[in-house]
Amino acid sequence: MESKVPVSSYFGAMTFDQKAMRARLPKDEFKALQDTIRAGKKITGEIAGVVAHGMKEWAMEQGATHYTHWFQPMTGSTAEKHDAFLSIDRDGTPIERFSGEQLIQGEPDASSFPSGGMRTTFEARGYTAWDPSSPAFLMKGGTGLTLCIPTVFISYHGEALDSKTPLLRSMDAVSNSAIRLLNVLGTTGISRVKTFAGCEQEYFLIDKKFYSERPDLIMCGRTLLGALPPKGQQLEDHYFGSIPDRVLEFMQDVEHELYLLGIPAKTRHNEVAPHQFEIAPIFEEANIAVDHNLLVMEVMRKVADKKGFALLLTEKPFAGINGSGKHNNWSIGTDTGINLLDPGDTPTENINFLVFLVAVLKGVYKRADVLRMSIASTGNDHRLGANEAPPAVVTVFLGEQLETVLDAIESGKVDLKTEKQVLNLGLSQVPLLNKDYTDRNRTSPFAFTGNKFEFRAVGSSQAASVPNMVLNTLMAEALDELTDAIEAKIAAGKDRDSAVLETIREGITATKDIRYPGDNYSEALQQAAKERGLPNLKNTPQALRTLEKPDVRAMFVKYGVLTEQEIESRLNIRLERYVKGIDIEARTLQLMLKTLVIPDVSEYQGDIGSSFNNLLAAAEAIGLSDGAVASQANHLKNLAGNLSSLIDLTAELDECVEKIETIDSEFGKADFCADELLPLMNAVRAVADRLELMVDRSRWQLPTYSEMLFEH
Ligand code: ADP
Ligand code: MG
Repeated sequence: MESKVPVSSYFGAMTFDQKAMRARLPKDEFKALQDTIRAGKKITGEIAGVVAHGMKEWAMEQGATHYTHWFQPMTGSTAEKHDAFLSIDRDGTPIERFSGEQLIQGEPDASSFPSGGMRTTFEARGYTAWDPSSPAFLMKGGTGLTLCIPTVFISYHGEALDSKTPLLRSMDAVSNSAIRLLNVLGTTGISRVKTFAGCEQEYFLIDKKFYSERPDLIMCGRTLLGALPPKGQQLEDHYFGSIPDRVLEFMQDVEHELYLLGIPAKTRHNEVAPHQFEIAPIFEEANIAVDHNLLVMEVMRKVADKKGFALLLTEKPFAGINGSGKHNNWSIGTDTGINLLDPGDTPTENINFLVFLVAVLKGVYKRADVLRMSIASTGNDHRLGANEAPPAVVTVFLGEQLETVLDAIESGKVDLKTEKQVLNLGLSQVPLLNKDYTDRNRTSPFAFTGNKFEFRAVGSSQAASVPNMVLNTLMAEALDELTDAIEAKIAAGKDRDSAVLETIREGITATKDIRYPGDNYSEALQQAAKERGLPNLKNTPQALRTLEKPDVRAMFVKYGVLTEQEIESRLNIRLERYVKGIDIEARTLQLMLKTLVIPDVSEYQGDIGSSFNNLLAAAEAIGLSDGAVASQANHLKNLAGNLSSLIDLTAELDECVEKIETIDSEFGKADFCADELLPLMNAVRAVADRLELMVDRSRWQLPTYSEMLFEH
């Protein structure tokens, strides 16, 4: 490890970044490529040939032998198919080749990736095409290096089979709408508006020896059984505590790998729960941030494995212990470097800020259900609303300062007629004040933190592409609505400034219900949601129904982000994944009950049974009272009673699992899983966990919570 040299000297060394491109490509091609990247366009065949050659030479010099198009199928993870550079010439000479065509277009057999019904197997072909805005990189694996080319994945009929394509489309959509609005506001000369994301990633690390003995962790990533340890996180002594050395070594190795990949890892610390940690990089343009977050998860998994740890990325690995999220910090800004969510020092900056802020409020208010849908998953259902994470209700937190400003504007106390009045709002103070304040309200799912919004309800294992795609799209729509409103007022004879200010005021009034400054974990929030009519979609099937709403579909179609068919396919895939996920969990639980828990308890019951018999035989001789005999009998009876309930519940579970297949609609299956199967699994768990605390530790084969969470 290059421990003595500064990180900046090797940052990005494993990526074909600007520096590498400049060094490897002829000047004209380098410039042409930069221009296409900047304009978000496709690259042409001629440039591709030259770029491919330069990229191959660079990759081979570092020792790469293979390349892969690295893409994001709709499973929420990443996929790759490796090809060697090696080819054999007609005369039999081996030679390394990598053409422009191979760079911009690859052809994986798409049949084993989910298409949600968009593709029948006989035409199971899709192609992957390089996304030149995301740099190619070299990934370590086995003993070699592979050149990975970030790509989109598209069917031969042009439908997006991945999560990257819709995100890129949403970035275009929001850019167009934002530029349109900025022009009306008088800010011209902007050719691209970008969205940025910074993903704070939470995770658990536990010793691999425990992990390998827990079928539930191996198969499902979360424990399906396990009694709470005597010491949980009550003492709160872990958060920001000193990082154990073994974990620190893991973090340092991860960071080293990330730096080589050009990923700006910035902060690391302990999280609330024992063995829970967080890593956060510096924010980047949304599609890069999403790619990088996927790589962060992948690199962590590999390094953890090498270090004898198991990395747990699922949202709720341990019941009763804090779960993990992925705080998605999001902002929007111009290609000239202005953050549009950062109130500035001038009246124009402040007005632009207020308009964009109102756009966020409008978008989140109108599309709260779509945002909720974007983060719905089997794992996240266990976390949201568990008094440790934002609830299923989406509200926005702005902070006291901004609340006061918006209230003042709404009530007409300030009418923003003059520059002085705009400056008097004191908006330039907001980022500073807000940061302090929001740190004290961690309960909000969507909080303004000075110059960005933090979407905290995203689950730790999810790809950030979908939530960012939704944020961009709802923002595009809201920006257009504001522009339309301003233009209509101007057409009706208002001067521009009054039209803008009136629109801001109307926006503030119309979106008041989405603002919630209080505690989002409280009963009051649930009540407020009901009174205000805010969507409260408790589980994944409920949240996914949002994708059936005609007006939601119309929004995605209007902004060119998803076609009707692409929406339908995503809905199918997510429903299927939900049902399959719970089905796997239920089957794993059956296995654990039948092969571990019931046998362990039965054996122990045998021990107690014979010990009781022996005692009975000796009772008279040793003069044991009837009461004492009864106590021991009760102990045995209690154990036997719980074991019998567990056996009965296991039989019920068997029936319930068999029933899934007999339900004919996917929504029917999903609802059955949420409403019948999961509650039954919890009931089973309650009995098993009770038994865990009654049985001799040496008879209990599963590693316990105490061991997994407190032993190092
Ligand atoms: P905290 O949320 O703990 O106060 P920070 O505000 O420093 O921490 O940032 C958390 C994450 O938000 C980091 O990944 C950071 O890079 C990212 N971030 C900071 N500014 C922006 C921005 N303008 N847009 C998007 N993400 C941002
Ligand atoms: Mg944060």
